[in-house]
Amino acid sequence: MKIKSEQQNLSLVKKLFREAKFNNILKCVHCGLCLDSCPTYRELGDEKDSPRGRLYLMRGLWEGEFELESSVIDPLNRCLDCRACESACPSGVPFGELLEKTRGIILENTKQSFKAKFLRYFFFKIVFCSTNLLIFISRMIKIYVASGFPKLFTKTFVGKLVPKSFVTKHYLIPNFSGESFKRIHAEKILPPFEKFEKDGNNLKLKKNILRVGLFSGCIMDVSESEIHYSTLELLRHSGCKVIVPSDQSCCGALHVHNGDRKTSSKLALENIAAFENRNLDAIITNAAGCGAQLKEYHHLLTQDDFVNQKKILSFENKIVDIMEFLFKYSDNLKNLEWHKDEYTVLYDSPCHLMHAQKVDTNPRKLLESLPGVRLVALEESEWCCGSAGIYNLTHPELSKAVLNRKTKSIIKALKENSNAKTILTGNPGCLYQIRAGIRLSNIDLRVLHPIVFLANRLKKNES
Ligand code: SF4
Ligand code: SF4
Repeated sequence: MKIKSEQQNLSLVKKLFREAKFNNILKCVHCGLCLDSCPTYRELGDEKDSPRGRLYLMRGLWEGEFELESSVIDPLNRCLDCRACESACPSGVPFGELLEKTRGIILENTKQSFKAKFLRYFFFKIVFCSTNLLIFISRMIKIYVASGFPKLFTKTFVGKLVPKSFVTKHYLIPNFSGESFKRIHAEKILPPFEKFEKDGNNLKLKKNILRVGLFSGCIMDVSESEIHYSTLELLRHSGCKVIVPSDQSCCGALHVHNGDRKTSSKLALENIAAFENRNLDAIITNAAGCGAQLKEYHHLLTQDDFVNQKKILSFENKIVDIMEFLFKYSDNLKNLEWHKDEYTVLYDSPCHLMHAQKVDTNPRKLLESLPGVRLVALEESEWCCGSAGIYNLTHPELSKAVLNRKTKSIIKALKENSNAKTILTGNPGCLYQIRAGIRLSNIDLRVLHPIVFLANRLKKNES
């Protein structure tokens, strides 16, 4: 990455930071309490790669003291944006918001190589914005997986003949479905399964049926379909009418994490429009990263985006993670028949659920309330797995080091709970990454989204 001009226009950068509402950076009192929760600082041991160091760099840019040069930009780009530092910070520094705004300014004001420009354009502006293209890619990769080539690279000596990074990418391939979930359910109103409830010895029509929208995402819309189907099933069992708007888009999280705020703003406007005027009580997400992004559109959209603040807040206030939602209405699940056999299951908290959405206890409580289920959180459940959107593709070495630490936690948990056969995590990116980690280490463990586990424990699911 090169700087646009040799005489770095300091006043321009300073002006852009001023416009970006960056005053919250002053909340940092440099206490260093966040350092021990930072995965990159733990791996690299360099202050520049710690939250405090990165805030120092961002403040220098904001104050016009630093230039946009590699020694400043690289540590900021090495950040996972996992936001563990936010949870650790007693001063309430909104690290994620500050980092994402900084990455936006960096992208707009630095020269990118042709390859980087092309990849950004192709994936962020074309692929993630086109359902047709996502379906096509999903079908192509499905055919590729069915051809047996991935197994050739991951399970035979052929893997030793090609670069390691090529083999690792094969472990990360999601289970593509070849179809779009939102297109299949487009604009239908899917009614609750149980329309009646007990009233003494009689049955009466349920009152207060909630009307919810389901957010389907981009890659999630065409892969790991059991997550959306399980979500749909549990929502309908808990007495909801479910609507899947067909005109919804990618949440834009990958774009924001990588500095493309313009495309992300466009996607935000599309999503707000897709879910408004539908009289919804809630908008359900089952991907922690998407949920965090959808709840923070106000960081992204400005008055220039022609959407009033009331509309943005009304949209954001309806966003809720599926496990949090089901916990809130768990009374509606009590009359269902659940498997009762004893089952030990490991649990890992996705960063964007725990640190960004501040949701952690209630999904665990819901899982623990299931008959026979014993939930064991990993020792470093709050620690990033190294997935971080596409970080595992852009920073493979550092991502792998962070993943190794997660895999060690899993191995430790398995030693203490040898009967555990499953690990749960509520974010698709974490699911792919942890799955790759356990495959690379030959660990015999299933990785499931908690909602899929919940649906599997439901006896009705088998009929
Ligand atoms: S977001 Fe994560 S990787 Fe980045 S500074 Fe904070 S703790 Fe470290
Ligand atoms: S971000 Fe928070 S915890 Fe970290 S150094 Fe600043 S004030 Fe302290």
